[in-house]
Amino acid sequence: MSEALLVLDQVVKRFGEHTAVGGIDLQISKGEFLAIMGPSGCGKTTTLRMIAGLEAPTEGEIRLNGKRINELKPWQRDTPLVWQNLALFPHLNVLKNVEFGLKMRNVGGRERHERAMNWLERMGLAQYAGRNIAQLSGGERQRVAIARALVTEPEILLLDEPLSALDAHLRVRMQSEISQLQKQLGITFAYVTHNQSEAFAMASRVAIMNGGLIQQIGSPREVYRAPANHFVAEFVGSNNILTGTMTGSEGGRVTVETEYGTFSAPEPDPAPAKGDTLELVISADLVAVSDSAGEHENALSGELISEEFVGSIITLYIDIGGGIVFRAQKQQHELDTLDYASGRKLFVSWRPEHTYVLPQV
Ligand code: ATP
Repeated sequence: MSEALLVLDQVVKRFGEHTAVGGIDLQISKGEFLAIMGPSGCGKTTTLRMIAGLEAPTEGEIRLNGKRINELKPWQRDTPLVWQNLALFPHLNVLKNVEFGLKMRNVGGRERHERAMNWLERMGLAQYAGRNIAQLSGGERQRVAIARALVTEPEILLLDEPLSALDAHLRVRMQSEISQLQKQLGITFAYVTHNQSEAFAMASRVAIMNGGLIQQIGSPREVYRAPANHFVAEFVGSNNILTGTMTGSEGGRVTVETEYGTFSAPEPDPAPAKGDTLELVISADLVAVSDSAGEHENALSGELISEEFVGSIITLYIDIGGGIVFRAQKQQHELDTLDYASGRKLFVSWRPEHTYVLPQV
């Protein structure tokens, strides 16, 4: 089987005593859109900068199309990087900015012009070719930066928080433009972002990093519904995590006793033993909320402390004691019949099969 387009093989990056990237293996296939996420300082940018050739790995190998590229200068590899401040040249107009990469590659004036104009047209920017960068809006500048990176027709485009300087409205529009562009061109994207909804909306796979290591790589759905460990479960989505002791198993289910009640969950593989500590992950969107106690297998109660509206989704924050705030995410209309207010008691429940039991490590 042929190797993936880009391979990071046990790549380590140390800055003096500090290990920024602690030995990662990563494979990115042709045409894939990989999002890299993780908390601040976890090594995302350093990883991207090593692929771009702006940092040299301390150990390990980076291969593009099966060839080691560790020693190649940024302009010798096919891996342009677009980052938040875009680094457009303010003294050059739009056309000259886009032509720049071709000039560096000694492409002749006429071909340079044609190829740059072609990209400006694709990005809906042809009418701005003669403008100064300062005369463009944030979204237009973003598109110039992408045109400038793509004009050399790279095999992989690296993007480091490219939308974080844009306002929320423009950001959402650019997300969909970038997604469409990636699908149309079939170019491989590696995209670093802090923004989870952005990563999950655009990427075909998501890599979650922490402490210089990749914690999990998978489709957005896999990472969301089957987190590899406690860190990923906490980092991704609005998961509720309850810790308890396994007290029994029957018919593919386990019973777990926690401070908040005894709950039933699917039996994980490998099967745990009685007395084992298990963590139950209950995704906030799979939780039912009621203002009265009902007959539910998995239920607990608490006091509503706050609610947060994002679009038509409401997140209810329910204090269940012991320092744990349980989250339930609902569509606004689902709460229409509910009699609730801050400080009132609420009951939450979830189906046993909607519980994910974290793998024991
Ligand atoms: P953020 O989301 O905040 O941008 P990140 O995940 O991209 O964070 P990196 O920029 O890759 O994180 O940094 C990883 C770690 O390496 C951090 O602790 C950072 O302080 C450190 N680091 C990065 N560049 C250097 C450098 N040139 N010299 C020393 N330490 C560095």
